[in-house]
Amino acid sequence: MKAEILSVGTELLLGDILNTNVQYIAKELAVLGIDVYYQTVVGDNNERLKGAYKLALERADIVITTGGLGPTKDDLTKEIATQFFNKKLVLHEKSLEEINKFFMAINRPISENNKKQAYFPEGCIILKNNNGTAPGCIIEDNNKIAILLPGPPKEMIPMFNEEVTPYLKKYTKCTLVSKVLRITGIGESNVDSLVGHIIDREKNPTVAPYAKDNEVILRLTAKAEKEEEAYNLIKPVEEEIRSILGDINIYAVGEKTIEDVVSEMLIKKLMSIATAESCTGGLLSGRLINYPGISKVFLEGAVTYSNEAKVKRLGVKEETLRNYGAVSRECAAEMAEGIARAAGTNIGISTTGIAGPDGGTAEKPVGLVYVGIYINGKVKTLKLNLTGNRQKVRDRAVAIVLDSLRRELLSL
Ligand code: AMP
Ligand code: MG
Repeated sequence: MKAEILSVGTELLLGDILNTNVQYIAKELAVLGIDVYYQTVVGDNNERLKGAYKLALERADIVITTGGLGPTKDDLTKEIATQFFNKKLVLHEKSLEEINKFFMAINRPISENNKKQAYFPEGCIILKNNNGTAPGCIIEDNNKIAILLPGPPKEMIPMFNEEVTPYLKKYTKCTLVSKVLRITGIGESNVDSLVGHIIDREKNPTVAPYAKDNEVILRLTAKAEKEEEAYNLIKPVEEEIRSILGDINIYAVGEKTIEDVVSEMLIKKLMSIATAESCTGGLLSGRLINYPGISKVFLEGAVTYSNEAKVKRLGVKEETLRNYGAVSRECAAEMAEGIARAAGTNIGISTTGIAGPDGGTAEKPVGLVYVGIYINGKVKTLKLNLTGNRQKVRDRAVAIVLDSLRRELLSL
């Protein structure tokens, strides 16, 4: 079975929104073992949508569209699909009832346009929308399948999970299982030189590396008849990779972020934390606060940007600033200790550096960042020499701080 994903919406072409639907659907189809050969994006334009639909139906067995199911004139997907399959649009009473109920619940009158959403090509399978007004549908004809889904992800994703996946299962013999290993502390080219021979050698599972936001990801994907068999194929290859890269460098498996991992460790170990940031300006505390439940351990984050703030809020010594400057090991150490003392936490983390583009000197160049990690009475400092623009330097510093903290917590 070959599938094509057709994303409909002018806003996608303009770059106004990110095409997250296509990523979601592609991943789900991979797990089902359905090959995706093409992904197309087309605007809300009658002729071009027809052209894209025609091409997709010629080269794929299953065409999955998202978008264009709304009530307005530029929502054309259903009408065009209906024409392609030579069907008539007929009223589906049950859907009209559901749409009526939806509008009653939000206390708004239903418009004629919304009624259009209750019309479907005759004989199709209707996909109920529990989170919005536009139901989806599946049209089957002449060995071709068209699956029409709404655009908003909060409607599309549940519809896909609840109705499309069970529907598609009957068309797949094998299952594709992926396992994602997330690596920090080793760069992409290093990962490649260490496990490149496995990447080249393995066909099932395939091993695909890619770099993303200061980490390297290895995706192992195995195909088998049953899920369990696929996992069994992955297991020895994963073990081999782990033995080469080292377990400590693989910070997580699956859809986890480094802040998730660090936060879970802090909560498990009941270690409270506070941050004092200069050059990262709240990025570090922001990352930690991404984790729901962090309030159990995260007490405060200070952005102490000026020298005065470092002295007044954290108790950094004037002498330290005079002798070594704000961007120094000594200052980072006093900042980390100072915030932990002020907040009464087990851990205090600090950052101070030169994010650029200006402010660098020969002695202290742009990209120089000092980090202080204070844990229960002991303080360590790190000196980082980072490259990239202001944003990159700050993001990289935070990524390294989170990973360093993870490694410290592992050794406790
Ligand atoms: P539509 O069903 O075409 O009216 O789409 C309604 C809304 O869904 C759009 O305005 C977007 O906010 C969202 N949307 C549509 N297509 C996508 C997509 N491919 N990925 C993410 N969001 C989308
Ligand atoms: Mg649209």
